[in-house]
Amino acid sequence: MNKIKINSYSCENDTVKTVIAVSGDAEFMSMFREAESELKLRYSIKLKDIPYSLGVIPALSVLLPVAWIFDAEIECDELDKAFYNGIDGIKTGYIDMYPTMQFKGKVSPGKIVENKTEGEKCLVLFSGGVDAFNTLASHYSEKPEFLTIWGVDIAPENETGWSVVKKQVEDISGIFSLEYNFVHTNCRRILDEKKLNSYIVAFDSLYNWWHDFQHGICIISHSVPLAYSKGMNTVYIASSYTADDKGTYTCASDPTIDNKFRFSSSIVVHDGFEFNRQQKIENICKFREKTGKDIPLRVCYESKTGDNCCRCVKCYRTILEILAEGADPAALGFDLFNDKRRKKMMKDLKIFRIPTYRRLYQITQKRLREVYTHENCPKDLLWFYDMDIVVNKKTKAKKFFRYKRKFMRGCTKLFGIRW
Ligand SMILES: [Zn+2]
Repeated sequence: MNKIKINSYSCENDTVKTVIAVSGDAEFMSMFREAESELKLRYSIKLKDIPYSLGVIPALSVLLPVAWIFDAEIECDELDKAFYNGIDGIKTGYIDMYPTMQFKGKVSPGKIVENKTEGEKCLVLFSGGVDAFNTLASHYSEKPEFLTIWGVDIAPENETGWSVVKKQVEDISGIFSLEYNFVHTNCRRILDEKKLNSYIVAFDSLYNWWHDFQHGICIISHSVPLAYSKGMNTVYIASSYTADDKGTYTCASDPTIDNKFRFSSSIVVHDGFEFNRQQKIENICKFREKTGKDIPLRVCYESKTGDNCCRCVKCYRTILEILAEGADPAALGFDLFNDKRRKKMMKDLKIFRIPTYRRLYQITQKRLREVYTHENCPKDLLWFYDMDIVVNKKTKAKKFFRYKRKFMRGCTKLFGIRW
């Protein structure tokens, strides 16, 4: 049988280390970079002495999805009672998300240990994007602390990229007088994500290991040593998708999965799922009005410096969402947005007739029509106000791929054919 063993665990000063050893069939073994590897999490604070039963949770959260898919047994000396009791719920979330796949495997702890989080603080897993700011806006009165992870979106070796993110989080914490925490992790250096990607695309050509099977519980698990050390009994992870989209997406971070994650006496909340992106922008704009503080949103994929470039598709979409609220993009992180760029943006969007994410643009248009009448709408937005977004030639291609995916899933389920 495929086996994963936690060979050793230590917690010293700011660092938690777990040594993971794997054995089993060749295919399973190939999903790991090494037969024995060390997961290392280094925090920006001195940790309390994190007991084994809690300190192994980050390792288990990296390992659980791969153990389920390859029917492996995970052995560890001790495990936290709340986390252990939540595993079946998390697994059920995966089964419901991927009904054509089988999730087997099990966790066998030598001893189950009950822990208690001493405190009532809360934590926001913070990235600086729209979703995270919406969560901050919703829970600001609870004075949350931030945890930002280095080693997830930014590679653990990328010091330049990290220094940009770090400075932004420090600045935002300063603006809102909140405490911030960082953790450096090699959690994406344990498994061979390329191999896993090649394996899972057999079930659906659009699957991606990190996005669809790993990131939710893996990210949340990094809060465990910090929350136990600082007495945080609630951890918020911001939603990317919304309740309206249910059934149209696959993602490893979902209320059906994240909300089942428990540890010590702390709970996890998948936050903001009830809001669509435009409503999140609305909440953020209201939050800005209420606090009187400019909000440095970070949404840009293109910029290397951490600024929003105000020229890429993601920037354009977010700026349009802000304009639909009647707010000023320059006060929400788009410092470079001026009259010249505004003119260019309208021209680009008009030419390309709304490039992608048409449904989101449709929601934004609806909001624009709520906020403005045709008469008082800014003149340069009238083309968008009047535009018929539904009509688009590309929907046929999308339909084709949707049916193709359904057909392939059906074949996998009925005949066991893997593509
Ligand atoms: Zn950009």
